[in-house]
Amino acid sequence: MARIRLERLTKSFGNVTAVKGVDLEIQHGELLALLGPSGCGKTTILLMLAGIYRPTSGDIFFDDERVNDVPPKGRGVGLVFQSYALYPHMTVYDNIAFPLRLRKTPKDEIDRRVREVARIAKIEEYLQRKPSQLSGGQQQRVALCRALVKQPDLLLLDEPLSNLDARLRIETRTEIKRLQRELGITTILVTHDQIEAMTMADRVAVMRAGIIEQLSEPLELYQRPANLFVASFIGDPPMNLVSMEYQVDGGTPKLVGGNLAVTLPPEARAGLEQASSRQVVLGVRPEDWRLSSQPVDGKPAGEVYMLEPLGRDTLVDVRVGQQAIRALVPGGAPIRIGDRVWLDWDVDRMHLFDAQTEARLPVAAGAAAQGAGA
Ligand code: ATP
Repeated sequence: MARIRLERLTKSFGNVTAVKGVDLEIQHGELLALLGPSGCGKTTILLMLAGIYRPTSGDIFFDDERVNDVPPKGRGVGLVFQSYALYPHMTVYDNIAFPLRLRKTPKDEIDRRVREVARIAKIEEYLQRKPSQLSGGQQQRVALCRALVKQPDLLLLDEPLSNLDARLRIETRTEIKRLQRELGITTILVTHDQIEAMTMADRVAVMRAGIIEQLSEPLELYQRPANLFVASFIGDPPMNLVSMEYQVDGGTPKLVGGNLAVTLPPEARAGLEQASSRQVVLGVRPEDWRLSSQPVDGKPAGEVYMLEPLGRDTLVDVRVGQQAIRALVPGGAPIRIGDRVWLDWDVDRMHLFDAQTEARLPVAAGAAAQGAGA
């Protein structure tokens, strides 16, 4: 096991800075996901940890030892890629044994360790097959075994599930997570798939353009996104974001815009006054709206523009004037295109962001307030 620390870690390729001064600490036995859109620097961090890329500046520590100058072989790292990169002419057994043979490990020790990881990953019965005779999920488990057989201190997984179909992805992510827990091995998972990051990781670092935007436990990311980027990146279907203006009407704080008006509790004022201007962004997740076919006192009304049945839920596109709002209702709810509906939501389920800095505003949650049609 290893504790990993990154200090001001930076990597430039010519005039492109892929990783910009990242500070990060990963605990013994933790599974941390680096999550973000394509090109945000996730793989570059992973390759610096593996020793394949040298940092341009900053430091990497494994258990307080600075490893910047330690070559890949000396780092005790196991790496698993999206492409399993198995040797097609070798059996599964030989593929897994390969790194140990390179190290000239005694034969009986190799045999013991290959069978042990194969048992843990449940691929014992395939040891004499060639990779082409296995499913994608089984091949991925072989690749994982080949990394684990070296008994690495740190396991690095780069988009390990991307080549699998949806069903196998769910099964394999469960297996990888179980294995990681069982072995207690410090693991870093690189992915652009939020479901993968949220379901597998103890903590998730959301990245954009070479920096970490938020580092939190998965539910915290969803419930308290630190800024507009994280708010719009995490959640599917995504959070509704509406540009609004903050006003104070006779001492009462209000938000107006997008054909919506929200009266906030007085205690919200302190948080709103931290905004750099009166322009704010209201965020409401699709599942946090309540749609009613009956007028709700003082609430905005809209028209159902489109319905998208998803099975368990139906995604309803409601237009309040020009403003599009997407709400989730239970699948099969009696709602039709063209229906007039009233929108309601709880203040303690809404999110507010500074329109300029994009940071989350600390607006008191849990207090009652009323929404009103503009
Ligand atoms: P993806 O999910 O697409 O792999 P990523 O988040 O892993 O994306 P990186 O591969 O780390 O992103 O790349 C980050 C940035 O650095 C990108 O702009 C990329 O074009 C650039 N980059 C990465 N490797 C190199 C390289 N060897 N030479 C030049 N630029 C590079």
